[in-house]
Amino acid sequence: MRYSQVFSKSSKSHPADAESVNAKFLIQGGFVHQEMAGVYTWLPLGLKVLRKVENIIREELNKLGAQEILMSALQPKENWTTTNRWDAVDVLFKVPSQTGKEYALGPTHEEIVTPLVKSFLSSYRELPLAVYQVQSKFRDELRAKSGVMRGREFGMKDLYSFHATQEDLEAYYEQVKQAYVTIFSRCGMDVKVTEASGGSFTKKFSHEFQIITPAGEDLLIACPKCTFAQNTEVATLKAGEQCSKCGAELIETKGVEVGNIFDLGTRFSEAFEVTFTTESGESKHVLMGCYGIGTTRLVGAIVEASHDDKGIIWPKNVAPFTVHIVALGSKDEAIQATTVTIAEKLYTDLQAQGVEVLFDDRMGMSAGEKFGDADLLGMPVRVVVSEKSLKNNVFEIKLRNSSEATFIDVATAVDQLTQMVKN
Ligand code: ATP
Ligand code: MG
Repeated sequence: MRYSQVFSKSSKSHPADAESVNAKFLIQGGFVHQEMAGVYTWLPLGLKVLRKVENIIREELNKLGAQEILMSALQPKENWTTTNRWDAVDVLFKVPSQTGKEYALGPTHEEIVTPLVKSFLSSYRELPLAVYQVQSKFRDELRAKSGVMRGREFGMKDLYSFHATQEDLEAYYEQVKQAYVTIFSRCGMDVKVTEASGGSFTKKFSHEFQIITPAGEDLLIACPKCTFAQNTEVATLKAGEQCSKCGAELIETKGVEVGNIFDLGTRFSEAFEVTFTTESGESKHVLMGCYGIGTTRLVGAIVEASHDDKGIIWPKNVAPFTVHIVALGSKDEAIQATTVTIAEKLYTDLQAQGVEVLFDDRMGMSAGEKFGDADLLGMPVRVVVSEKSLKNNVFEIKLRNSSEATFIDVATAVDQLTQMVKN
């Protein structure tokens, strides 16, 4: 994509009230636009990141046989009274209708998915089954803060699984737990898995997936070597003690919860009377698991965990583009024309190899301004095409996560860059 064509340009400053690093860089870089506290529009560059994250999640969940659906955001009040959550969930947005009825704007979807599955389920032969969606959720958070990490409207992937036996539920739960570690690692993130108490609505087990960052709201006792962590709300271990998984010395650190998985037992299937017939002909309540990932929060957490004072450092798999070509202008028109032609060719040739390229083709801007934008926007590889380097028949290459520049021959640049980004 040509940067001159991108509809949402970067700005030199960020809103004064953008208190968190993710809000500051995402707004300034033109990835998101804040509509009001806790509510954001995702702009072309930001949406590309969000879609990449969502697609990584889809790929890993599809491998577990889960099927994607899209449930309604507007939910009937009756379902929430059936589960006794209409008055119990403080963050529930309640929407009055001119007909006198009231609706809930979905903060989560147990109230929809449980009766939905009831309408299709009769026998153990249909179990296990798992459905998921990627959708906007609405929560009337008292304080919307931390940029896109705690919104009133936000993206979530929610997966629900249905089982005939506890054994089967636990086996699937374990598979999802593993898939989550894979998902976060594919997003370039090192994730900690905490055992949690299970929240207010279940006595069963639950796990949280935490990304370590000082911007996190949760205080953890975490292992620096493996995925083990405990949330200090429930912790049995202390900093300085040994990790119960690998023996390394535990540290105290902050984390942001990017995912959460629960064994729901029969909490919702009893409320909605969702039963199935077992092999021996008995009627039993179906067992449920639910598994969330905050997709928009995850994008924010990636920024929090991967940036420097100049801007974002996108991990390769979620970067909007992998290569950022910066063509520098020249006072000499003929030289500038040659530079642009060479940069154009590099842009086209890389794209023909399937490389995703952002091409800063804006002329009449200083090198400093362009480099500033490249650092702010955070693509993994920056390629500078300038009069100076072309004299030696090379391009200057700099990785966003390194301070050293190197040079590659113009003749072999496409091959070398293609290799570099595919590895
Ligand atoms: P938290 O403890 O952060 O309030 P939660 O435990 O209520 O979140 P769940 O109901 O399990 O969250 O939702 C699944 C995931 O959705 C969370 O792990 C988190 O990543 C994300 N999430 C929850 N609330 C928000 C929010 N207000 N803004 C953005 N993401 C959120
Ligand atoms: Mg939580």
